[in-house]
Amino acid sequence: MSDKGRLIVLSGPSGAGKSTVVFKAVEDRKDVCFSISVTTRKPRPNEVDGREYFFVEPDRFKEMVANDELLEHAEYVANSYGTPRAYVEKQLEAGMNVLLDIEIQGARQIHEKMPDAVKIFIVPPSMEELKRRLEGRGTDTSRAIEARLIRARQEYAEADFYDYIIVNDDADRAAQELSAIITAERCRASNRIQWLKNL
Ligand code: ADP
Ligand code: 5GP
Repeated sequence: MSDKGRLIVLSGPSGAGKSTVVFKAVEDRKDVCFSISVTTRKPRPNEVDGREYFFVEPDRFKEMVANDELLEHAEYVANSYGTPRAYVEKQLEAGMNVLLDIEIQGARQIHEKMPDAVKIFIVPPSMEELKRRLEGRGTDTSRAIEARLIRARQEYAEADFYDYIIVNDDADRAAQELSAIITAERCRASNRIQWLKNL
């Protein structure tokens, strides 16, 4: 039996712990890979080009949009972000589950194009904790943190768009929940019925 790869869209406010949780989930499973996005944001001190993001100039980003190289793209707090199409399509064809860490406008674009994508919203246990994490990460100015907190509230108002909500109080447990969702989605009858009928 070979299961089809699924697209797993993970959204949540900046500082919710998406990168932390995705890293743990990808590390633990061979059937899950992470799609590295393109962004016009400047790298944070600990970020490496081609690991967290592909960092590009705005002109190159515009060119990628014009050439239809991005599966989705959006603006987030004055920067552009997008998902390279070729990598995602290749991995899905190979039967991999592909994780996208993207904000809600991008999640909605994916939902239109690929309605069977699984949509997960991840949040920290409280707004105070979100602020603490953004400050603790030490990579954003206080102005950028304020903008991200306002954006978080806006995203919470749309959270019922998602299929699942993970509360990231403990990162290991949150990664286990993410992994459990991927496993459950893999076992869906719609994913395996054709195989069963062909036995
Ligand atoms: P995101 O990718 O959603 O912006 P990060 O993964 O960068 O968030 O996490 C933001 C900050 O919160 C980081 O400093 C990270 O180490 C910390 N963090 C992540 N998950 C937890 C957790 N469960 N408990 C405490 N701190 C966490
Ligand atoms: P950050 O600057 O904190 O790394 O990311 C800011 C926001 O952009 C996060 O909500 C993250 O999920 C989102 N993001 C990252 N990559 C993409 C992408 O390719 N497309 C979209 N639409 N959002 C993205």
